[in-house]
Amino acid sequence: MGGAISLLAVNFIIAQVFVVAFLVVAAKSRTRLPAIWCAAGFAVASLSAVFETVLPFSVVPKLFAVGAFASVLAGFILIRLALGLFYGVSAKHSHMAVFFAGSVVLDLMIYDLPRGTLQHAFFYQLPFCLVQAWSASTIIRSERRSPADRILFLLLVLTALYYLVKVYAAITAGSGTTAADYLASPFALISQALGAMLIVSTGVAMLGVMVKEIIDEARASSELDALSGLCNRRGFLDRVGPLLPAAGDDGPGALILTDLDRFKLVNDTYGHHAGDEVIRQFSRVLLDLMPSKAVPGRLGGEEFALFLPRVGLADARVLANGLRAALASKRIDALPETARVTASFGVAAVNADEPLEAAIQRADKALYAAKAGGRNRVEIAEPPVRIVASAGSQRAGNS
Ligand code: GH3
Ligand code: MG
Ligand code: MG
Repeated sequence: MGGAISLLAVNFIIAQVFVVAFLVVAAKSRTRLPAIWCAAGFAVASLSAVFETVLPFSVVPKLFAVGAFASVLAGFILIRLALGLFYGVSAKHSHMAVFFAGSVVLDLMIYDLPRGTLQHAFFYQLPFCLVQAWSASTIIRSERRSPADRILFLLLVLTALYYLVKVYAAITAGSGTTAADYLASPFALISQALGAMLIVSTGVAMLGVMVKEIIDEARASSELDALSGLCNRRGFLDRVGPLLPAAGDDGPGALILTDLDRFKLVNDTYGHHAGDEVIRQFSRVLLDLMPSKAVPGRLGGEEFALFLPRVGLADARVLANGLRAALASKRIDALPETARVTASFGVAAVNADEPLEAAIQRADKALYAAKAGGRNRVEIAEPPVRIVASAGSQRAGNS
């Protein structure tokens, strides 16, 4: 009995640790509700440890036995609610309420059946098995398939199976002749120990997927430019980097650098707000005309970049000219009817053996040449200079 009571106490403490952990996650998360419902789920489920501990000393053991059952089930249903919100697969609250009420009635009905029989064990464990499977189904029905999601799915399926195995264990190991001496049974010890392991694993996995989302959100917002909605420099480099090794016949691709012409004058003449609107609208032009696989970015101020995977220099030049013409003829809402804004472009082929920063520098040189050549122009970058080692000396040459 001592062993099972100690495990109940351990389970209770573990559940409280999860309550605190999920509340901390809720405080940091943009979408708080799933973590709050998880905290509530663990808090409610942990009440069962209190019911189970008091039960042997109570004059109304049935009340405490059903209370223990109902609190664990209610906790699991709250966690199902949380996972539904998190994975965007919600279930009707009325269905959950009917499931809960039906299960409690079932528990009351089987209360007087001999314990350790198949009927008693099966109908006692069935609701727990179903609610865990119901939770697992939210992940399958969602779009998410990260390793953390898969691990959580697996643990929920295992937990659902665990409740079926408990049916077998209750019959073979025995679960006490009454609810009151349940805690003295070998079944209680096995059940609480396995339960503790599954609670911890599933709780950690749920925390894992929620913390991962917080990290992903923080990372995405640190790599996003709020004004244009495009990646900032860091986001641009992070996204383009992995695309570079995939060299096609035309090399990894091409890079277009562009900078708005005399933008300071736009700000000075029409105000900073109008300048911001120009940045937004130019970003729109880039997004509308670029190929679907292109990666756009606002590298800073009024300077933008487009990486075009597996696109040759000639096609990149055509696209740059199209972008240039589209902006030059575009009516910008925040500016007077006749005012037009232009941009200059530098285009470079990105070579397979060249770091992206080097290609950016070459495109930047071309952009500078476009500015020097009168602006509202497209210039092509020189190919990269290769250092070729020969017989102890080095000579430079274009590739
Ligand atoms: P050039 O044709 O040589 O590129 O001239 P420019 O005036 O465009 O270049 P310059 O570097 O002299 O000025 C860039 C201006 O862009 C100065 C800065 O205030 C403005 N700018 C940078 N970021 C923003 C922004 O987010 N919003 C607005 N409205 N202006 C910005
Ligand atoms: Mg400029
Ligand atoms: Mg500039």
